[in-house]
Amino acid sequence: MNRTVDVASLVADAGAGSARAVARLVSLVEDAHPALREVMTVIAPDAGRARLVGITGAPGVGKSTTTSALVAALRRQDLRVAVLAVDPSSPFSGGALLGDRIRMQEHATDPGVFIRSMATRGHLGGLSQAAPQAARVLSAAGYDVVLIETVGVGQSEVEVAGLADTTMVLLAPGMGDGVQAAKAGILEIGDIFVVNKADRDGAEVTVRELRHMISLGERREPGQWRPPVLTTVATTGQGMDDVVAALADHHAWALANGELDRRRVRRAASEIEAISVAEIRRRFGAVPDGAGLAELAGLVAHGRLDPFTAADRLLAAAAS
Ligand code: GDP
Repeated sequence: MNRTVDVASLVADAGAGSARAVARLVSLVEDAHPALREVMTVIAPDAGRARLVGITGAPGVGKSTTTSALVAALRRQDLRVAVLAVDPSSPFSGGALLGDRIRMQEHATDPGVFIRSMATRGHLGGLSQAAPQAARVLSAAGYDVVLIETVGVGQSEVEVAGLADTTMVLLAPGMGDGVQAAKAGILEIGDIFVVNKADRDGAEVTVRELRHMISLGERREPGQWRPPVLTTVATTGQGMDDVVAALADHHAWALANGELDRRRVRRAASEIEAISVAEIRRRFGAVPDGAGLAELAGLVAHGRLDPFTAADRLLAAAAS
């Protein structure tokens, strides 16, 4: 952790295409390394270039297979692609998850592709801080598209939506009909819906239900984005070029509409907030004995101080 880092040459190497340097930078993010601050200062002007695409959906719908097929389709357009597989519930990091992700192996030797699993449980700011920071690093390293795939389940689906410029929601026949999608809250977050496993029975029904559910909640004002519902067979790559085209369409719309900027500002706001909160927590711990959280908590618990005054004192002590 405390090894000194030559930030300037690391960033230069990453920009020159060294996968090792990129991997090291992403590790600095994961570790919340002290050198990260300098990295972020150096890369700030180039940290927002990449298009961030979130890929989410229930386990088994084919996210990993789709991501791999999407990488291939994006590579055919000569775009450099980074994949962040984020598992908000797993303590493992680095190669641990990727070892299982055989499908990604076809891209392992392609210098235009960077793939990394990130675990965020140990990270102070969680997914909200680690993934955008990693995306900044990858953007500065020259990747055109960063695919952020959530591997875990639960809240992460909604959380990932806040991280991306474009959010792609994956479903599969029988697994995610329209009503289920509505219940899971994914109708609101999807910019593009993909019914994968279109080679299976029931794909058309899923598409129809999904279109119906989306139309119920749709804002019909002109100029609004209407989320398309596409079908794919990720195992063969069928439909992937349509997905790439829809991603480009959404990006162009969001850019022209101002939504891209609004999302990026929102994302930056939550990044700043997460960093600030982590810093305040750290400072609370550094407040000298006698004025710290433990002492104040004792006073409040025993009725000698009210919690609001205690919070004022703690914040004042932490700020000094
Ligand atoms: P994830 O858990 O969402 O990442 O799903 P995976 O990508 O691991 O895929 C789950 C299973 O579905 C695997 O056995 C895949 O081979 C299979 N699968 C993925 N896409 C398709 C598809 O389009 N058609 C069919 N029939 N199977 C698929």
